Amino acid sequence: SANRNETPNWLKQRAFLTPNRLAIRYEGKNYSFLDLHQLVEKRARQLHQIDIKRGDTVGLLMKNSLEMVINIHALMYLGAVNVLLNTRLTAEELLWQINDANIKCVICDDELSVHFPGKKVMTLSELKLCDEKEAALDDSFILDDVATIMYTSGTTGKPKGVQQTFGNHWWSAIGSVLNLGLKDGDCWLLAVPLFHISGLSILMRSVIYGIGIVLHSSFSAKEANRAIKNEGVTIASVVTAMLNDMLQELGSDTYPKSFRCMLLGGGPAPRPILEQCREKEIPVFQTYGMTETCSQIATLAPEFCFSKLGSAGKPLFPAQIRIVADGRDCSPNEEGEIVVKGPNVTPGYLHRPDATNEAIRDGWFYTGDLGYLDEEGFLYVLDRRSDLIVSGGENIYPAEVEAVILSHPSVKDVGVVGKENKKWGKVPHAFVVRSEEVSEEELRQFCLKKLAKYKVPKGFTFVESLPRNASKKLLRRKLKEWL
Ligand code: ATP
Ligand code: MG
Repeated sequence: SANRNETPNWLKQRAFLTPNRLAIRYEGKNYSFLDLHQLVEKRARQLHQIDIKRGDTVGLLMKNSLEMVINIHALMYLGAVNVLLNTRLTAEELLWQINDANIKCVICDDELSVHFPGKKVMTLSELKLCDEKEAALDDSFILDDVATIMYTSGTTGKPKGVQQTFGNHWWSAIGSVLNLGLKDGDCWLLAVPLFHISGLSILMRSVIYGIGIVLHSSFSAKEANRAIKNEGVTIASVVTAMLNDMLQELGSDTYPKSFRCMLLGGGPAPRPILEQCREKEIPVFQTYGMTETCSQIATLAPEFCFSKLGSAGKPLFPAQIRIVADGRDCSPNEEGEIVVKGPNVTPGYLHRPDATNEAIRDGWFYTGDLGYLDEEGFLYVLDRRSDLIVSGGENIYPAEVEAVILSHPSVKDVGVVGKENKKWGKVPHAFVVRSEEVSEEELRQFCLKKLAKYKVPKGFTFVESLPRNASKKLLRRKLKEWL
């Protein structure tokens, strides 16, 4: 029928519409959309030579690189499903995901090559040497088809395979651009992992909008700042830890006026950092989203970025957000679970009907995050429900306490978790990484000035570094083990 829910193959269409525009800048070289499309067609035929075809599930175990981008698109051209594997996982964790997703073949960077029992593994060098075999390449994408599978970070527990359809990616990209707009010469810095939705979503936006990417193989504050200052980057996606490093590296320098958006997501956005950015006139936009929503579901619109500092904004145009507690909708400013809906939300977890039915009820996705909406409908994200510390009947959000401690000049990094306590049930405990000498007593006094007494950590432990995952997220469950 004529009304199949489909779009043209995005990169192919882009290479047809605007062939000469910059697609990717990588290691000092520029590639146009036509260049990229041609590299992808060749790769698709090489993948076909090793018997990859429509419906196959293929794992990618790669660090950010032009080759990784080529492989992602090539698998889409063949109608195969990309499973983006996290390069920081152990072989055992990877094998679990590879089996869970029923992967036919793993394509990996040479130095990441591991033997997975019973699975075909192909290194990039081997793949590049393959002959090409004629293959039917997709001219269009069916929006309901699963394009990618991404395991959740596992910040809170065992990872689940999130199915992301072409439609999820499409609506995510559209929702973002309806909020941020599109400017001539826009160029997005991609220095977050492509195996996370924060990175992959930039790649999808690039081909859908026709804008360039500056791709970094890993994050370096110096390189990121250089890309913004000298290479025409207008938008960058960062998490708090990255932004911190960038601000430090920037020193008294500033970004050019053409740099219009620092998209800050992935975790809590401590107020002191937002304020520091405001002082330096860095346009920082807090955003809220997750693997299951295929990136952003709410983002603070440019015109509110100062008046609503601290908020993650309103839902993107195609999405809806509610706050629910005890099965009913909360009133403004009342805290509850953040519940979302939209065409960017996953149809469910792979082979996990139990987890899917628990998360998706009546078409609404229950995020497991706590927050509230103000009278005007702006979202404030508090913390994960599982990290909430209930102390003597009071709720303590670790993110709030961490933000205060982090604003102390001698503190480089901090994580707060609940510690068992006979009298209060739980009390907050802080793990602190210092940049210079500071005593426990001094930190306690500092907190007492800025936080209600029950929120001030009862104990401080000084450590060398904190456990963070590949997206630099604090692993509070590891901290709980440290207690
Ligand atoms: P797992 O689901 O396996 O525990 P994860 O939730 O960390 O891992 P992601 O999907 O990468 O994996 O992260 C999404 C989560 O990050 C959100 O559910 C939320 O807890 C947190 N987050 C994202 N944006 C914000 C924000 N603006 N403020 C606070 N937390 C945020
Ligand atoms: Mg999650």
